[in-house]
Amino acid sequence: MKLIEALIQLLGPDAVLQTEADMAGFTEDWRGRYRGVAACVVLPSSTEQVAAVVSVCVQYGTAVLPQGGNTSLCGGAVPDEAQAPPVIVSLNRMRKVRSIDAANNSMVVDAGCVLAAVQQAAVEARRFYPVSLGAEGSCQIGGTIATNAGGTGVLRWGGTRENVLGLEVVLPDGTIWDGLYALRKNNTGIDLKHLFIGAEGTTGIITAATLKLHPLPTSHAMAWFAPTDPQAAVEVLGLFQARCGSQLSAYEMMDARQLNLVLAHVAGRRDPLASPHPWHVLVELADTADAATLDQALQDVLELASERGLLSDAVLASTEAQRAALWEVRHSVSEANKKAGMGLTTDCAVPVSAVPTFITQATEAVRALVPDMPVAVVAHLGDGNAHFIPFYSFEQWKALPDQEAAAQAVRHAVNEIAHVLGGTFSAEHGVGRTQLAEMRSYKSAVELRLMRTIKQALDPEHRFNPGRLLPSE
Ligand code: FAD
Repeated sequence: MKLIEALIQLLGPDAVLQTEADMAGFTEDWRGRYRGVAACVVLPSSTEQVAAVVSVCVQYGTAVLPQGGNTSLCGGAVPDEAQAPPVIVSLNRMRKVRSIDAANNSMVVDAGCVLAAVQQAAVEARRFYPVSLGAEGSCQIGGTIATNAGGTGVLRWGGTRENVLGLEVVLPDGTIWDGLYALRKNNTGIDLKHLFIGAEGTTGIITAATLKLHPLPTSHAMAWFAPTDPQAAVEVLGLFQARCGSQLSAYEMMDARQLNLVLAHVAGRRDPLASPHPWHVLVELADTADAATLDQALQDVLELASERGLLSDAVLASTEAQRAALWEVRHSVSEANKKAGMGLTTDCAVPVSAVPTFITQATEAVRALVPDMPVAVVAHLGDGNAHFIPFYSFEQWKALPDQEAAAQAVRHAVNEIAHVLGGTFSAEHGVGRTQLAEMRSYKSAVELRLMRTIKQALDPEHRFNPGRLLPSE
């Protein structure tokens, strides 16, 4: 029996996609930059089916590529034309919220649950799941765990890693590991869930997760303001932290070019301020305290910042609709950039205090390679994660003799600045394919050896996501 026949026997014909047309949404990435060929796409409906699919792939010696919402920004979720076609295991049919334990502040969900659906299920239980990002309407909880996604809530609630209590995983030999603990304390040896969080599907397929929930913020205060420059934005962040403590829930910065790209390419978005400014910050406070207290704190800090000459304009969101509109501007960045040109998205994090220097030096480094290259900046400033995005126009990009080499050179110049400032080249998007070469540049020999040892122990045949995350030796 052939591989496809065995999979059809296991799952039924409607759960095994084979034609190019049926597989198109799975073999090309969200930005249309990477395309590959798959043996087929399978849509299992249960953990047991995922395990059985993996066992069949072991039997036929076929590679396995787990896929969630396919929103990766670094080519992690689609096949690589240089590798043998894998079986894409899509979690699209595994979308159950298995249970919510409000008293324990935890919930257990299938890995295919869309992030926004998880957030909504938590709200219905008067709880809060804090991981939030622009792709939340389509990325899946399994994908966010496999990439250790960051987003806008990291400043207050931590990233995905801090919000996962337990996992259920199908291992590369087809074994199911049930690690769906719902505990805050469990000192029984190596914490195995961390072998899968951020491993980008190279060590197992996450089929379910126990997530940490938080008290539901019932009041918010939000403003959009124009700091005089990134250094002023860092100083205002300090003022907010001193006055508001853990009520500060988001602190996002973008430059004028980035805002203008959103306004030009995404319908319905408006400049929150009446006149143009070089830099912009969205700040949000959230709490279970009354809204008036938060509004007062927000106004106090903005007034103080204004007196100190740190900002030139500000607007407060006074209704839920205004608040949503400000978030829409922020969350439209990736959609705008996809249409605007060939943005060479970088994903560096440096200490918050070093972000202004990073922006200045990265701009100089890029311009030394490509004079006058336009750059957009959008930063989760509260946690030091700055997406510094040099742009080629689509025409310039098409005319480049070696696109890959040109893109690598520009990204590497930016990553090098972050490295010198004590930072990282991948803060939240992961490594995927785009950043594979940088693993060799910036991870030490000891770190690479440890990662390869773990990979070898779990997946000795290198069946899961070959060619991702770990560069070949
Ligand atoms: P996919 O893209 O399908 O897969 C990503 C990787 O995870 C692949 O290597 C895949 O093999 C692996 N994988 C997927 N599911 C599983 C599973 N169940 N088990 C094991 N491995 C699996 N990211 C951020 O961190 N912060 C942001 O603010 C942010 N904003 C974004 C905004 C937009 C508009 C877009 C398009 C993307 C954004 N991203 C952001 C990137 C992306 O959304 C995240 O990386 C997300 O976590 C990917 O989830 P996914 O389900 O789409 O995973």
